[in-house]
Parts: sequence; C-alpha cells; structure tokens
Amino acid sequence: MISPSVIENLRASLRGQVLSPGEQGYEEARKIHNAMIDRHPAVIARCADVADVIACVKFAREHKVAASVLGTGHNVAGFGLCDDGMVIDLRAMKGIHANPKARTARVEPGVTWGELNHDLQAFGLAATGGFVGTTGVGGLTLGGGLGWMVRKYGCALDNLISVDLVTADGEFLSASANENAELFWGLRGGGGNFGIVTSFEFQVHPAGTVMAGLVLHPLSKGRDALHFWREYEKTAAEEMSNSMVLFTAPGELPLPDALRREPIVSIGGVYVGPVMEAEKALKPLREFGPPAADIYQRMPYSAAQSMADFLWPKGFYSYWKSSFLKSFSDGAIDTILDFYAKTPSPRTVIVVEHDGDGAFDRVPAGATAFGHRNWQYNLVVTTVWENAADTEANIQWTREFWEAMKPFFADAVYVNYLGEATDEGIRTAYGNKYDRLAALKAKYDPTNFFCHNQNIKPNPATNSIGA
Ligand SMILES: Cc1cc2nc3c(=O)[nH]c(=O)nc-3n(C[C@H](O)[C@H](O)[C@H](O)COP(=O)(O)OP(=O)(O)OC[C@H]3O[C@@H](n4cnc5c(N)ncnc54)[C@H](O)[C@@H]3O)c2cc1C
Repeated sequence: MISPSVIENLRASLRGQVLSPGEQGYEEARKIHNAMIDRHPAVIARCADVADVIACVKFAREHKVAASVLGTGHNVAGFGLCDDGMVIDLRAMKGIHANPKARTARVEPGVTWGELNHDLQAFGLAATGGFVGTTGVGGLTLGGGLGWMVRKYGCALDNLISVDLVTADGEFLSASANENAELFWGLRGGGGNFGIVTSFEFQVHPAGTVMAGLVLHPLSKGRDALHFWREYEKTAAEEMSNSMVLFTAPGELPLPDALRREPIVSIGGVYVGPVMEAEKALKPLREFGPPAADIYQRMPYSAAQSMADFLWPKGFYSYWKSSFLKSFSDGAIDTILDFYAKTPSPRTVIVVEHDGDGAFDRVPAGATAFGHRNWQYNLVVTTVWENAADTEANIQWTREFWEAMKPFFADAVYVNYLGEATDEGIRTAYGNKYDRLAALKAKYDPTNFFCHNQNIKPNPATNSIGA
C-alpha cells in the first residue's frame, strides 16, 4: 500500500492529475478497452508532460512501488494496468507536430492512429498505423504495427525515425539509427521493456484520397470467395493491403436484408495510390461472386483508418489468439469457416491479414527486433462478447478453435496480438532475437522495473549486443 501522505507528495510534484481509489474519476480511469481487465491500482498518475513521466519513474523506484505503463489501454492482455501499484498513464499526452515539408510527424504517446491520421490528412499525408483508429500509437509501434499500408510501407516501426524515452533510472535519452543504435534496434519490436517513450518521430507518406472498403459475401459462399481472394492476392499490387474479416453485421449497418445480423465473409482493404489505378486493380475482387454487397469507395485516408472501428467497440469482453499461418491453405480456410459458423457470440471477429509480399518482408529480418517477417498471412481470432455470464462459453470455443487450427500454424506469433503473457508465447514472438533482447534489457533495465508488459527477462549472460 502507498500511504496517503506519500500520494500527496506525488500529487504536488506532477502537473497532471493523480487519482487514488475512492476519488472522483478513479473508476473511469481504470477502465480500458477490454472489460475482462478489472484491476485496482493504488494510484493512477495521469502524466501531462515528460517531467511528469520522469517524476513517476523516480517516485516508483524510491518507494519500491510496482508500476505499469498505460498508452491508450488497447492491449488485450491489459498490460497497462496493474493491481495495487502505480499506473503511469500517458493518455493525456496528445501532442502531434506534423512537418509536411520533411514528411515527418512527432507524436506523443497518448495519441491514437485515428487522431494522428486526422491531423495528417490536412496535408494529404498519412502514417502507417493499425487497422483501426482507436488503437494507441505507443504500444502498437513498439511491438510492430500492422495496418492498412503494411504492404506498401511496412510496419509502423519500420517508419520510426527516432524516439525520446525515459529509462528505468528516470534518465532521459534519445534513440535513432545514429544515437543509442542498439537501443533503437530493440525498441522497434521489444515493446515497453526498455523505457517509456515520450515522443515518436515517424516518416509519413502521401495518401490523400484512397479507395477503401469491403466486399461482403454470405457465409454459405465464403469458401469460394476466399479461394478466389487467395489467387487474387498472388498478383495484387503492394499498394493494396487486404484482409479477410469474418463478422456478423450489426443491425444498424445499411446492408441488404440478407446480410443484416448474418455471419459475413468479407474481404477488405485500402489501395494507397492513384484512385483510377485502384479501380482497375479492385475490379476482379469487386466482380467475383458477385458479392452480396460492395462498399468500396473513395475516401480520405483518415476515414479508411477508422472504417473498421465499429467492429471492436470499447467496453466489451475480449479474448484473443493469434498466429502467422504457414499458408492460407484449403484446410485452414475450411476450419476457420466451420468454427465461425459455431461461434457463441455475434460480436466475435476473425481476421486473416495478408501482410507479406511487399515492404513488410523486404525489410531484412535482423534490421529490427520485430520477430517474424517470413510469413505472409496472419490469423487473429478476436473473440468478443457482451455479458460476463458468457465468458466461459466464449473462451472454450476459442480454445477448441485454436486446437483445430494448430496444423496450419507457423511457429511464429506477433507480440501485440498475444492474448496472454506466457513466457512461451513471448519467446515464440521473438524467436532467435530473444537473447539479444534479454542482453539489452540487462543493460537498460537490469532489475526488470518495466515488467508489466510482454516481458523480456534481463540476462547479461546472453550478451550479444551489436550482433
Ligand atoms: C481493437 C484492437 C485493435 C487492434 N488493432 C491492431 C492493428 O490493427 N495492428 C496492430 O499492430 N495491433 C493492433 N492491436 C494490438 C495493439 O497493437 C496492442 O494492443 C498495443 O499494445 C496497443 O497500444 P496501446 O498504446 O494502446 O497499449 P496499452 O494497452 O496502453 O499498453 C500496453 C503496453 O504497451 C507498452 N507501451 C505503451 N505505450 C508505451 C510507451 N509510450 N512507452 C513504453 N511502453 C509503452 C507498455 O508496456 C504497456 O503496458 C489492436 C488491439 C485492439 C484491442
């Protein structure tokens, strides 16, 4: 426990708000995206600036308080929140500084991709972020960052130029290819293990108006549609980043009656390039079937960034499993469709991203700490339900589905899609980069102060820094 007088000292030293249990705003502040996460921190420090972040780290160390770092609270395992300790809450740090001439943007860690791309749209630019707009820039970039421009410009972390961060000692550092280069290597994939990033500098890209949307098929025609999609992707230009999305259409979506509240097999994405070329490239996909609905259209990139947000609203219960696939084989397609037909929750969404065959896998494997770039398709089962009473049935369905899919998995998972923080999962996510990361962790955080995350255990014995 932290005594009230110690919390008062913290309050006096921060510009941001400090909340402890019982105070107004505390209950709301401890809610994050996934309703499964119900933790009760002793104190939530809502940092206003870098000085607050430094003060929080020093406070936690001095008072031997466990701390977690909260970006925007999207991590499905809830790493941003801890029980009984201190939450270093970055959600109020929302600064964005775009430099349209240099095509760069400096971004604070409480910003979401929707907010960043809203700002950049004014300059006809866009940043390579996630597939939804509500996810945070911080956690997403430090773990990887797969989104609607992954095949054209790679992951979010491939577009990172530099960062500022506060280390486990409360020291302020910058890292880039030219400064603290090994740390910069580890930050691009190693998540929140090495410090609290207070500023991200990104390369951004021309985007303006793009063609984006979905074609929708009823589940009964899903198999043919996915077989067609697999062939289509073999020659699809890398301007196009597409995913398969299985979902049940909410009643309020303006869709034909046959699709409303029915399970849907959709294929959707964004073409980042001239709209005329996009229309040509998309023609076969939009004609096949034909689909029961086609909602591809011209839109600002900022709208494309948020077009899938409705599928994952805040405050529902979530349980995720994910793995890269060896290939998008007939067997994988059949198993996915069979299990989706039996899902206990109409809120559940299954995604297969086509990330590879472009900028994502052109980046040399060792260039960043991101785990795996040699698999093209990535499966994410995002089981989502509304009522706590349905938890067991949904988790059981997810686990059975998982067992059935195992023959199709590559031995590779994306760290940000891990639904649980098992050592095995984290090692699988980093593969043969784990030892180099453990040595870096021993250098920058030898006592494992930053442990509420996809944790890499410090291990100086594995010292291969610079390898
Ligand atoms: C609905 C939904 C959609 C998603 N879509 C995508 C997607 O399209 N593409 C994709 O790649 N991922 C996606 N994700 C996964 C997402 O990348 C991770 O959940 C990520 O952790 C979210 O970032 P955050 O800042 O909100 O994390 P938080 O939950 O706030 O924090 C999680 C952890 O990240 C670390 N962290 C966060 N910010 C910082 C910082 N500034 N400095 C140091 N460490 C930090 C900390 O260890 C922290 O505990 C999605 C998640 C959800 C729930």
